[in-house]
Amino acid sequence: MRAGPLEEFTSEQVDRARRYHRPLYVAALVDLALSLGTLGVLAFGGPGDRVDRALHGLPWWAWALVFSLIVVAVPFVIRLPLSFWRGYVREKAWGFSTQELPGWVADRLKGLAVGAVLTATAMVGFMGLARVLPRAWPLAVAPAGAGLIMALSFVAPVLLEPLFNRFSPLADPELSESLRTLSRRAGVPVRDVLVADASRRTRKENAYVSGLGRTRRVVVYDTLLSRGGPREVRLVVAHELGHRRLRHVARGTALGVGAMAVAVAALWGLLRTHAVLGAVGAAGPGDPRVIPFVLFVATALQVVAAALQMVALPFESALSRRWESAADRFSLELTGDLEAFVASHRGLAVSNLLDLDPPRLVYVLAFSHPTPPERIAAARRWASELGAVAPIQPPRSTTA
Ligand SMILES: [Zn+2]
Repeated sequence: MRAGPLEEFTSEQVDRARRYHRPLYVAALVDLALSLGTLGVLAFGGPGDRVDRALHGLPWWAWALVFSLIVVAVPFVIRLPLSFWRGYVREKAWGFSTQELPGWVADRLKGLAVGAVLTATAMVGFMGLARVLPRAWPLAVAPAGAGLIMALSFVAPVLLEPLFNRFSPLADPELSESLRTLSRRAGVPVRDVLVADASRRTRKENAYVSGLGRTRRVVVYDTLLSRGGPREVRLVVAHELGHRRLRHVARGTALGVGAMAVAVAALWGLLRTHAVLGAVGAAGPGDPRVIPFVLFVATALQVVAAALQMVALPFESALSRRWESAADRFSLELTGDLEAFVASHRGLAVSNLLDLDPPRLVYVLAFSHPTPPERIAAARRWASELGAVAPIQPPRSTTA
């Protein structure tokens, strides 16, 4: 249950985190409504028809390309004031952002460009297949989409992530040797733990794993390195190694492929229905007029998936929280360092102002991680279970 020991934190800390997060939950909901609303208007309404008519006469692929770019750009512009408030104004006010306005704008534009290229590629590909195979297109679109997801997982660390951050091998030779040893003991040896220059954007701390096969990597934010001692960094890296050892990235990619297949099946069902085609004003799945509808359905399906997850699974067992918990346990077993576990999760919670006591519904629907009090409580439990097993102590040289 969620009744973790809030006493790990002061009531001021709980309160401050609540004040930071509550408006952001409302903002996220408004943002989702804006996305769905804008895509809905473009899919079903007069503005979408007018854009579509203006593009008549272009070859189908240019028509699909330009329409895709417009369908990505319009919601971006409509959501911009809200993303400015929550991503810039508020992050500055709370002392997290280290970025000036031009840097923030450049980030948004890069994000828009990446989204536009990916969406346009996917939509032109979809149109092409739907035109070549007017009846059997799902049989081609589903594997093509799956291939795109896997290719993205593979190339993201080398093509997309460097657009936003610079990565360098960890400079501290002692810590880096100790992390290499840790990764060998974890059974997932890594050549380098990479450091991302997150501090040029934020004071928040993080670490993550990404990539598949040869592009697999563990990345630690420089903000975490400069605050946390070596034992805390080891603990956080052990958690990320846990995600790799337990194959969470590969399984996440497989889930993405499954979700893609479900989305294609849903679209196939919808786009052969006359009422739907009539409402959209399209001749069939190969007509670029369906593009905003496809993106509308993709967004709506994510909402449906979150809701289904809530109904279908016991509350605490949402998949991503289960994976986080498994990686936590892995990190504790690998390091045998409960003290560092508690210190690092407290440190992350305070530095990032994580919500320590989120509203139930928000937690169930949107929390990818258990809360810090839950994670610390679980670790204390595991440590007492593991008590009989002699924990592996970190090497002397890296204890601080
Ligand atoms: Zn994790």
